[in-house]
Parts: sequence; structure tokens; C-alpha cells
Amino acid sequence: MRLFEATETGSIEIQIGEDLQAKQEELAERNRRFFQERRIRVFDIAGSVGAGKTSLIGEMVERLSPKYKVAVIAGDVATTHDAQRVTGKGATKVLQINTGGMCHLDAGLVARALEQLPESGIDIILIENVGNLICPAYFALGAEARIAVVSASEGAHVIEKHPAMFQSANIVVLNKIDIAEAVNVDLNRPLEDLKALCPDMKVLKTNCLAGEGIDDVLKALEIV
Ligand code: MG
Ligand code: ZN
Repeated sequence: MRLFEATETGSIEIQIGEDLQAKQEELAERNRRFFQERRIRVFDIAGSVGAGKTSLIGEMVERLSPKYKVAVIAGDVATTHDAQRVTGKGATKVLQINTGGMCHLDAGLVARALEQLPESGIDIILIENVGNLICPAYFALGAEARIAVVSASEGAHVIEKHPAMFQSANIVVLNKIDIAEAVNVDLNRPLEDLKALCPDMKVLKTNCLAGEGIDDVLKALEIV
């Protein structure tokens, strides 16, 4: 984890919590092994509050559940709204983790949620991270891939302001493309920034509310 302190002339990097980071890595690796042994495909969906993570998950569950047993783990500081929104889309199990103030999920919290899942039969787990483009970047959960969801309404500079999050992602979903013009955002800007930051990143454009572009996301994740 890299932490910077702002100074009058710029910023200085502070070295902290390396042993904490090692512990996190170990827990993430344990989750990874758990998933591999059971052949469960697991995706970590991260992004700001309001980017469309829950809508994306709902759409994915709807398409996947006729064929696969899907579980959803929704992380939030408080409330069960997101879990409730996904319930009824066909998921086998929907769990809500309330972090009690913590602004990201970590591998330990996910491991505790896994204890609540059925012993066998789950094919896919979709984990909704806490809405936040900052610290979730530094906490691996043990998922096979991270989907970073970003919406047109987050402004033209959202990518360059949050490089760590996008560098930690395996695919990027650019959501709410239908409202870009209304909020006066030129989508070429975030797309160019992403190209400069992560030249090989797969970027999928979606309108999750209308269900547009979801099949492309599933294809990019190689879930047939
Ligand atoms: Mg949500
Ligand atoms: Zn956090």
C-alpha cells in the first residue's frame, strides 16, 4: 500500500503497514485457493457510489442464473438495499456484508461471508465492493478478476484521478453512456486516459438500467 502526505510543495510518500499488507495477501490467497478447489468463478465489482455496480450485478445475475448457480455478496457500510435489489433476479444466495464504517471489503470479510454459502453447487460469485474508487484498489479479495465500474456522470477526469483502481482492474465497464451528453462529459477523455494508463484494458460500454452492453461484459469475462 502506498500512502502520500500532501505538503506545501508537493507530496511525500509514507511507508506504512507492510506486515498488514502481507497478512491481507495471505488471506486473499486463501480465498483464491478456496475458489479454485471448488471451481467457483469469482468477480470483484468495484466503483464509486452510484456508478451502477448493483445494476450491473442484477443484469448479470438475470442472464447467468438460468444456466449457473450464482451467489452475490454485497458490501456496504450500512443497509441491505443492494442485496434486496438483487434478490429476485435468480441468484441462489444473496448475502449482505455491512462493514460497520470500513470503506472497503477485505479478504477476511469475504472469507466470513463464504461460510454462509451452501457447501457445494455455487458456480459463480459476484462480490460488490463498497462504493469507493480509492482504497478497494489496495485490497485483493481473492477473486479471479476485478471489474471497475465507472459512470459517465463521474466526470471527464475520473480515470486520471484514480489510477490505482483502474490499474488493479481486469476489465472496465463504462456505464450510463446514455447520459454523457446531458451531464456534458465527453467520453473520449476517460477512454483516452484509460488507454494511456492501461493500454491493454478491455473497456465495455453499458447502459445497465436498460440492460445494454451486458452480454459484452459476460463475453469479456469469458462466461459463456
Ligand atoms: Mg450498489
Ligand atoms: Zn477503505
